[in-house]
Amino acid sequence: MEKLRYERPVINKIKAGVPDKFGMQTKVEIMPEIEGISVKDILKEYGSPVFVLSENKIRETYQEAHRAFSSRYPKIQFAWSYKTNYLDAVCKIYHDEGSWAEVVSGFEYDKAISNGVPGSKILFNGPDKSNEDLVKAIDNGSFIHIDHFDELYSIIRLTKNTDKKAKVAIRINMDTGIYPQWDRFGFNYENGEAWNAINRIMLSENLELVGLHTHIGTYIMSANAYAVAASKLAELAVRTNRKFNHNIKYIDMGGGFASKNTLKGAYLPGKDTCPSFDDYAEAITSALINSEIAPDNLPILFLETGRALIDEAGYILGTVLANKRLSNARRSTIVDVGVNMLFTSFWYEHEIYPAQECSLQTEDTAIYGPLCMNIDVLREAIQFPLLQKGDHFVIPRVGAYNMTQWMQFITLRPNILLIDRNKNIQIIRDKETNEVFKRQERVPEHLK
Ligand SMILES: *Cc1c(COP(=O)(O)O)cnc(C)c1O
Repeated sequence: MEKLRYERPVINKIKAGVPDKFGMQTKVEIMPEIEGISVKDILKEYGSPVFVLSENKIRETYQEAHRAFSSRYPKIQFAWSYKTNYLDAVCKIYHDEGSWAEVVSGFEYDKAISNGVPGSKILFNGPDKSNEDLVKAIDNGSFIHIDHFDELYSIIRLTKNTDKKAKVAIRINMDTGIYPQWDRFGFNYENGEAWNAINRIMLSENLELVGLHTHIGTYIMSANAYAVAASKLAELAVRTNRKFNHNIKYIDMGGGFASKNTLKGAYLPGKDTCPSFDDYAEAITSALINSEIAPDNLPILFLETGRALIDEAGYILGTVLANKRLSNARRSTIVDVGVNMLFTSFWYEHEIYPAQECSLQTEDTAIYGPLCMNIDVLREAIQFPLLQKGDHFVIPRVGAYNMTQWMQFITLRPNILLIDRNKNIQIIRDKETNEVFKRQERVPEHLK
């Protein structure tokens, strides 16, 4: 028998299967293009960093959500949540798809009007509506979602001398099994405040109670919470009908559906754990059609989903500024995207993809933004390939909230681009310049 040849033993890290102490195993996926357009070319032409939105993705996601609901319930109306992303171009895409506007301030209300939305297709939410805002909304026949008794009494007062009836709904908060409970907006269901508000409205001559509204929270991972909420609103609609012989025209389930981003501290990626539009639709519509509401009086179902509709359509593209070793020898990569423009990095573990071929080797890396501030951390720890200065990267799923909650801090805000349906790139918001800030500021005479 021939002597076996010696082979030196090797230790191989198993890359498949269960997560290790760093989380799920990552293989290096790259994202050199967005909708077939080279990331490198986009950055060269429009500067780094830059936000990019996909019109196709916005429309596809909207249509998917609409299909999930309209195939299960006869009367569906979406209203675009302006605060999630109120770039005019974005709002106009949703309005073109048939969405109404959902606004939470006078500023957003005026924006919707200037985007061509008729007043009668605006849902006006939020705790801060001035008398001026309320008068405008009453005159335009908008739907006012009352947040508190002070607002209810203001509306009663404001309608004393007009012949116009105010079209109102109330926002209702409740225990849906999601904690902490969002009980600071609207009237509480369990303690009877919501029923009290309904009774006061029904007895006010110049107010017409058209709807019941709730928005139970944001990034809600449980479809069942919506079933609980919809049942409670249906119950109030039935009680209102029984006592006043009055039909509630719509039930508005607000927003709050989770997007596919991964929350900080989550064990599994959001794309594997979030309910689908079908899951949410099944829960909400089942609760409504199985309620005691008479079939002839089935209310319109309004949805104000924001995050889940637009997150996936947004990308931010950027450039590596430097690499360095931290005092404990960990690698850190400094990039030109900071938390000032990527506000959501405070609560998401954003995925970051190299935009060019790179080494297969990855290392536990901290990714920092360019700000001279300790809080400017995009990822505390990510298994990341060894990108070099000047290399590009893409962060997907940044369409929701970043382009409204961003702050002008240390650096100027970048261009926002839209890849339209013909794959043309359109600037939909110009990058800021020093001129923009000069225009707003004044230097007193003695300091000139
Ligand atoms: C913010 C908000 C929405 C949208 O919430 P998402 O979590 O982005 O879906 C809808 N309705 C109201 C009243 C809101 O304040």
